[in-house]
Amino acid sequence: MPELVFFSGTMDCGKSTLALQIEHNRSARGLQGMIYTRDDRAGHGKLSSRLGLVTEAVEAVADLDFYAHVVGVLTAGGRADYVIVDEAQFLTPRQIDQLARVVDDLDLDVFAFGITTDFRSKLFPGSQRLVELADRVEVLQVEALCWCGARATHNARTVGGEMVVEGAQVVVGDVNGPESEVGYEVLCRRHHRRRMTAAAARAASLSPDVLPVDTPAGPPDRT
Ligand SMILES: [Zn+2]
Repeated sequence: MPELVFFSGTMDCGKSTLALQIEHNRSARGLQGMIYTRDDRAGHGKLSSRLGLVTEAVEAVADLDFYAHVVGVLTAGGRADYVIVDEAQFLTPRQIDQLARVVDDLDLDVFAFGITTDFRSKLFPGSQRLVELADRVEVLQVEALCWCGARATHNARTVGGEMVVEGAQVVVGDVNGPESEVGYEVLCRRHHRRRMTAAAARAASLSPDVLPVDTPAGPPDRT
């Protein structure tokens, strides 16, 4: 039975790498997939992973109708044995409904990869609709780590190195970006709630006026 599968996780948890691995495994078996992404860090029409792999993809702009697009490819004589969608959190709920229709009416597997929650720990609309509709939700096992060594479950947005909790839901930035700009950092829930980024923890540990940060079990020193 074809399935709509939602592979979810934080930023930096290896989603795009897994998307490329699934693509590689299936194309090695002679299958051909339709690959979509949105706002990939490598630019329009690219699906890239942090490990340096990249492949061509269709840019899933806001008014793209997935169902119509796949039907269009098939009726033009093209092939589509499965569908991969990266950065699915940026899709509209309506586009997620179209992906479910691709599974049900075209009998194709759809593998969607996305970040579950935004920097305020609220569900992205696309991810919410995927949780509602997916046959399966897989929480990725390649776990990103907070600076304290605990499992990172939340995405923090930083501006000039300071964690912020207000602003537009989607602002393009990246982990490991320049400190002066909008950046992102994955944290455990405890440190997300305390707005304690790695930089804030470093500053606190250097200041004699601040109580020491309590750290759960994990690497004692990551500086
Ligand atoms: Zn932590």
